Amino acid sequence: MIPRIKLAHLPTPIESLTRLSEVLEGPQILVKRDDQTGLAFGGNKTRKLEYLLADAQDSGAELLITGGAVQSNHCRQTAAAANKMGFNSVLVLVGERPENVSGNLLLNRFLGAEIVWAGDKQRDLVLRQTYEKSLQEGKKPYLIPYGGSNVLGASAYAFAMQEMLDQNEDVDWVVFASSSGGTQAGLVVGAQMFGYQGSLLGISIDEQAGELKERVATLAGETAQFLGIDGTFSGDQVLVNDDYLGDGYGIMGEAEVEALQLFSRYEGLFLDPVYTGRAAAGMIDLIRKGFFSAEERLLFWHTGGTPALFANPYSSQLSYGLDG
Ligand SMILES: *Cc1c(COP(=O)(O)O)cnc(C)c1O
Repeated sequence: MIPRIKLAHLPTPIESLTRLSEVLEGPQILVKRDDQTGLAFGGNKTRKLEYLLADAQDSGAELLITGGAVQSNHCRQTAAAANKMGFNSVLVLVGERPENVSGNLLLNRFLGAEIVWAGDKQRDLVLRQTYEKSLQEGKKPYLIPYGGSNVLGASAYAFAMQEMLDQNEDVDWVVFASSSGGTQAGLVVGAQMFGYQGSLLGISIDEQAGELKERVATLAGETAQFLGIDGTFSGDQVLVNDDYLGDGYGIMGEAEVEALQLFSRYEGLFLDPVYTGRAAAGMIDLIRKGFFSAEERLLFWHTGGTPALFANPYSSQLSYGLDG
């Protein structure tokens, strides 16, 4: 057994998106609610942190250090988990402090995390330096990689696949947002471990498919080895679609706005502007193009991120044209 602490509300429910399926005139769509993992507005990082924090505890750490974008959901969940388990936290964020503190950044301040702004310096370099400095100062730091995507984080999603299979929904496709690749690598390994027969389609959020596939395959191989199962994976075995990168990471376009609107107007369900909005936009476009057959069942894995709805520029973009 890999050491694990309990942070998430599991299993997350699977719900049927009947009205959305109807309006799209496509296959049946289900949603797995990892936006409801419970900790500090939830999201996929909470599952990963169950393993990462157990390891941090075992190694005698007192301070968690991680990094991400200004609106990083991973940083928010890490800061919250740190507080719950009695660690301090430092977050290395890309760019400069924005004038208005909102969304995840507001929550990170509220959680009391120390924030280091990387400016235009290389984010990995600043993260490393922050770690080295706290090590020298005797603060007992523990470094969590971007997105929590190492073998521990990915293992959480291997077991999430087991959880999904235990829910007996029998889906042909699992569609989700893929970025640092830990979620996808874990699902790929879990599919092999627990015998999922369907397909796993990652919609890339910020990277060309070739690169993301290689990274997922490498991490999946390392994770399989860590979990003691046989498995080498090649990039060709990993399904990634990079048709929906739009104007780049964190830039919400018309397709994302439409996806957010469809999910909220037909299902009362909120997506986020950066990850699930883009992944859902991709899924919707593929449905319209007839990529899936009408008899197939799709599961959209909702990975969270909704606090960014309340951050600019997203909130002003989304309120444009709304009455009241
Ligand atoms: C981090 C994140 C993802 C991507 O997960 P990876 O494991 O980094 O690929 C997807 N959705 C949301 C909301 C996230 O915060």
